[in-house]
Amino acid sequence: MRRLAVLGSTGSIGTQTLEVVRRNPSDFEVVSLTCGSNIDLLFEQITEFSPLAVSVYDEDKAIELKNRLKTHPQISVDVYYGEQGDVTCALLPEADTVLGAIVGVAGLKPVYEAVKAGKDIALANKETLVAGGDIIMPLVKQTGVSLLPVDSEHCAIWQCLWGERKDNLDRILITASGGPFRGYSREQLADVTVERALAHPTWKMGGKITIDSSTMMNKGLEVIEASHLFDISVDKIDVVVHPQSVVHSMIRLKDGSVLAQMGKPSMILPIMVALYYPDRGQMLLEEFDPFTAPCNCLTFERCDTGVFGLLDLAYDAGRKKGLLPSVMNAANEAAVGAFLEGKIAFLDIENTVRKVYEEYEPRNTKEFGIDDVLGASAEAFARAKELLGL
Ligand code: NDP
Repeated sequence: MRRLAVLGSTGSIGTQTLEVVRRNPSDFEVVSLTCGSNIDLLFEQITEFSPLAVSVYDEDKAIELKNRLKTHPQISVDVYYGEQGDVTCALLPEADTVLGAIVGVAGLKPVYEAVKAGKDIALANKETLVAGGDIIMPLVKQTGVSLLPVDSEHCAIWQCLWGERKDNLDRILITASGGPFRGYSREQLADVTVERALAHPTWKMGGKITIDSSTMMNKGLEVIEASHLFDISVDKIDVVVHPQSVVHSMIRLKDGSVLAQMGKPSMILPIMVALYYPDRGQMLLEEFDPFTAPCNCLTFERCDTGVFGLLDLAYDAGRKKGLLPSVMNAANEAAVGAFLEGKIAFLDIENTVRKVYEEYEPRNTKEFGIDDVLGASAEAFARAKELLGL
């Protein structure tokens, strides 16, 4: 049985994780839950899963939740707030596995502390590795914990690598749906709306990652994430646009063999693969049918980086390393947040990220720690907002 701390339990990954728990109650116990501010859903989750502790990032909302719980004296749960609350929930001694599904670099600190404390990590929160991979990965090695990839492409690559010797890996072919604007020109992108950008053709996800998919930044973040997880240079990772989202990624081995992992575009399976590893859970999705669309017609194409420039920028950050990936990531978080709030145009996302990135003067980053990463992220976030006049 895995005893879970679910960080970001009210989001897309968090709720799907709890669905896996709901369908397999004898395999999991929920020890703690955290969210940003959605206390209505968190309250429902408390009543259903009876965690020992919860945390709400927004302090006022945490107080509101505490007051609500006073009228339900039969419920016993500790309520925390803020970043420290996330950390406390991740570190509860009763939890053996932390499911990292907070969105953004806000997820880094609790995951970092959990690795230090020897917890296994099932990681969906890619920004944690983009910003902090150079710190988290050595710590994972040092502590001997398992870092189980939940991001679907990384879960696919990971499965393809099971039983394979590391020096047999030649390249990673990471697939991308291409997002809602595949085939668009820069001119067409100029006036796309938030609503259009949120209408992802194949995946149903939270707002931030859906916008990242529409700019192709999501794939850039995933390339950096994969380079950390699988200890491979970004130049050995190719992005393959595959609009059907059936092949979740591929690896090429040194003899030319290509292995792929396939399935429906649903996060339930990668969540299960991570949480049951090294076993397998029981199938919760419909069977894979190779004879019906979209499985019977798979296509692959290159990404047009002349239109979606953030992908090349992410490769650059992945090559240069240091604090540049954190800077790029934080500028992107600020710009995507502003776009989601309807305050800026779609192309302002790329322009802002590029400007903050190019302005950044790398300091001596030979050795840096988590505070440097969080500091550089905060600075880049603030600079992006300043450039956007927010
Ligand atoms: P959502 O926006 O749907 O959910 C984010 C979750 O994080 C919510 O529970 C939110 O709470 C919570 N949250 C936000 N800020 C904080 C904070 N400071 N402290 C604690 N909790 C916080 O995002 P997704 O589930 O889509 O994505 C989560 C992560 O997983 C992202 O990094 C994403 O890139 C990655 N991922 C997601 C996939 C997907 O299919 N959704 C696929 C692969 C990776 P509240 O609800 O209160 O705002």
